[in-house]
Amino acid sequence: MYTDFRERFCLATAVLHYTAAAVTDRGRKRPSNEDAYGLSVEHGVYIVCDGMGGAAAGEIASSLAVEEAMRVLCARDGDESMALPGSAEEAVFAANDAIYSRAERNPRLNGMGTTLVALLARETGVWVVNIGDSRCYRLRNRRLEQLTQDHSLVDEQVRLGRMTPAEALRSPLRNVITRALGTQSSVTPDIFEIETDPGDLFMLCSDGLTRELSDPLIESLLSLDLRLEELCARMVNAAKKAGGHDNITCLLVRAGG
Ligand code: CA
Repeated sequence: MYTDFRERFCLATAVLHYTAAAVTDRGRKRPSNEDAYGLSVEHGVYIVCDGMGGAAAGEIASSLAVEEAMRVLCARDGDESMALPGSAEEAVFAANDAIYSRAERNPRLNGMGTTLVALLARETGVWVVNIGDSRCYRLRNRRLEQLTQDHSLVDEQVRLGRMTPAEALRSPLRNVITRALGTQSSVTPDIFEIETDPGDLFMLCSDGLTRELSDPLIESLLSLDLRLEELCARMVNAAKKAGGHDNITCLLVRAGG
């Protein structure tokens, strides 16, 4: 009994360590890559952004968002006392301001914006931050679960029961997102905590991946027993093979015991 208790106790308080890898690719149709990502295993910060507003503007928006959010979140520097939802909000607001004010100064960049999905990893679990239609998934025991909700017109219609998921995929309005970073002077992110077990695999990705690959295919690819770098490459290559219509980014984070 005593051993049993100790084992369960140890599991409940297990300190999680993370490994990560990422790949971004222009895809097969677009002339440039407006996706951007940032990662710091040391600080437990992982971000994927998908820019919009025309090639140059989209690239500027997504890279500014990654830069600003990384700067704020990595400056915490192991300060566990600073509540994560607060610093996640601060990072989002800083990124929003940076993009919005740059666009105000330069009319050619008017209307540029970006999605942002981030994973903030702690020793006891992770926080997810989301604006737009990039996504965060978790693979646990070979079962895939989408953790974020898309801020898109079609996804909102599906949630309201006015559209089926199949109709949403085909809809001409499927590119319309209802929340983005940098397009307005303020923004409201989704920020939530996810309980984490050793072995959990998280994927952050842009819609260039999820438009090409079905959830069952993503689930089977992520279940392969491969190094994270190899898994990222497989995911991106599969999306390119399926059409590669858009830029593709895949960032994987594994929680280890
Ligand atoms: Ca995209």
